[in-house]
Amino acid sequence: MDLTREWLRGVTRVGFVPGVRARARAALQELLDELIAAVRAEPFDPAAGDRIGAELVDLRMSAPPVIGMTVRLLTDGLPPLVEGDPAEVRRRVTLLLEHVTTGFVAAQRDAAVQAAEQMNRSEKIHWRRVQTELQRRLIEDPVTGLPNQQQLRQLLAAPTGGRRGLCLLGIDRYPELADSLGQDNADQLLTAVAARLRQLTGVFLAHLGDDEFGLLLDDTTGTDDVVKVADQARRALAAPFPLGDHSLRLEVTAGVVEGRNPGEHWLRDARLALGWARQGRHEHAVYEPARAEADRRRHRLAAALPSAVDSGEFVAYYQPLYRLTDRAVTGVEALARWQRPGGGPPLGPPDFITLAERTGLIRPLGRFILERACRQGAAWLRAGRDLTISVNLSPLQLSEPTLPADVADILHRAGLPAGRLQLEITESAALDQGYATLQQLAELGVRLALDDFGTGYSSLATLSWLPVSNVKLAAEFLAGAGAPAATEMLRHTIALCHALNLTVTAEGIETAGQEELLRDLGCDYGQGYHFARPAAAPFAS
Ligand code: C2E
Ligand code: CA
Ligand code: CA
Repeated sequence: MDLTREWLRGVTRVGFVPGVRARARAALQELLDELIAAVRAEPFDPAAGDRIGAELVDLRMSAPPVIGMTVRLLTDGLPPLVEGDPAEVRRRVTLLLEHVTTGFVAAQRDAAVQAAEQMNRSEKIHWRRVQTELQRRLIEDPVTGLPNQQQLRQLLAAPTGGRRGLCLLGIDRYPELADSLGQDNADQLLTAVAARLRQLTGVFLAHLGDDEFGLLLDDTTGTDDVVKVADQARRALAAPFPLGDHSLRLEVTAGVVEGRNPGEHWLRDARLALGWARQGRHEHAVYEPARAEADRRRHRLAAALPSAVDSGEFVAYYQPLYRLTDRAVTGVEALARWQRPGGGPPLGPPDFITLAERTGLIRPLGRFILERACRQGAAWLRAGRDLTISVNLSPLQLSEPTLPADVADILHRAGLPAGRLQLEITESAALDQGYATLQQLAELGVRLALDDFGTGYSSLATLSWLPVSNVKLAAEFLAGAGAPAATEMLRHTIALCHALNLTVTAEGIETAGQEELLRDLGCDYGQGYHFARPAAAPFAS
């Protein structure tokens, strides 16, 4: 829908628009462009809305319903016109529109003062009504008449000295709900929700827009007080809401902040906690600074990851694998590390592998490590060090039909014989991604190892038909080793692998006792901090 046409229709319906329609439309289009530019601007400055509000007065669109209509229309119509993170766009639009109304009121006041001299008594009364109405709109939600976000912010910013708590209540799946109900029914629903929440005593209730309500408590003694209010609110909203000839059940989720130094940032904190609760499918979640910091860090890393793969910030570390009978180094495992610019220790896979898998970046990253490791292996081979180079494969890589051809190509260009490369895959990946790719890799002469055996739903049966030649026992397998039952498990697993013609590597060996035990049990290879930690190219090439 063309927003300016809708806008013009809206304002002419509720008030007088001077001039030719086409000219009015052009003026509105200009204002709309300014608003869009203001939402996009970096850094974002909501004060741009003040001038736009004043321009509305200049356009003589001055009846209070006009500004109400305008704000309403823009709240819904503006966000879809701006690209970017929808939550951030919404936040900006909300702030901007607050300034549009402020600017509007200020400009009107100026205009009113100028006009006052020529005004008769009844006109003066009209203007006073206009102003009260506008001021009310600045602090009240237009649908429910409850205090709005702006007012809650002001309260949060005003120090009380004591502890306070904020419960941010969100109606689950509200956007879909509002879509299917239509605007009038949705407004009716919000009004009914507000009426029930008004029954709660001892809290300051605000309507922050659409699906969000804020409940502010004074003199709390801990988060429990706020959680209790969240539960009361949920109970108050539990009964179905009659709507026309049917009724509707709502589900709500709460984000909770409690403590001594509230501020406007509490709104953001509570919103974050609300997000956590929804993610974890909990009824509520309490804001924790450490978790918020971890979130921020993850977001920063997520934003930096795409270009990091391209700009070569990743390196392969290598951890040696030892033959247990004579402690000879027979191979290395390549492990990805992220060396972020600006120094500091490199980041390990827990910080980026899941992220890379979710975004598909594991493909270029995995390929990069594979190429690096093959070239390093070839260099060692030329220098007289004959090592098996192990590289981890993600399930996503394994699902690529071109993988065998890619691997053959990489080996060829690096000059590494296929038999010197071992690809490590997890059992679930092997089971999900099918046998054909593994078979083709095995036919190239590449060795395959089953990684992390003993975690997840490992089953000895799969070992008998997968084309693997090595099993890597997960470090967890060693955890209980020493206790008789765990030792027997290990002994039998190793024996079974041998019966199937598979060699066995134990991971995560951290003590001499573990090394000795595994040697006694007939385990072939070992890897772990007890021998060596992963490091950048540990042997001269
Ligand atoms: P993994 O394949 O099981 O690799 C072994 C992990 O155990 C490595 O962690 C290694 O540093 C760690 N480790 C080695 N010895 C010991 C020990 O004695 N005690 C303990 N506690 N840990 C030990 P890292 O480097 O953090 O890698 C974690 C996982 O990330 C790897 O587990 C692997 O699944 C994945 N990964 C690493 N590099 C790549 C890669 O290039 N591609 C893919 N797809 N995954 C990778
Ligand atoms: Ca591995
Ligand atoms: Ca492993």
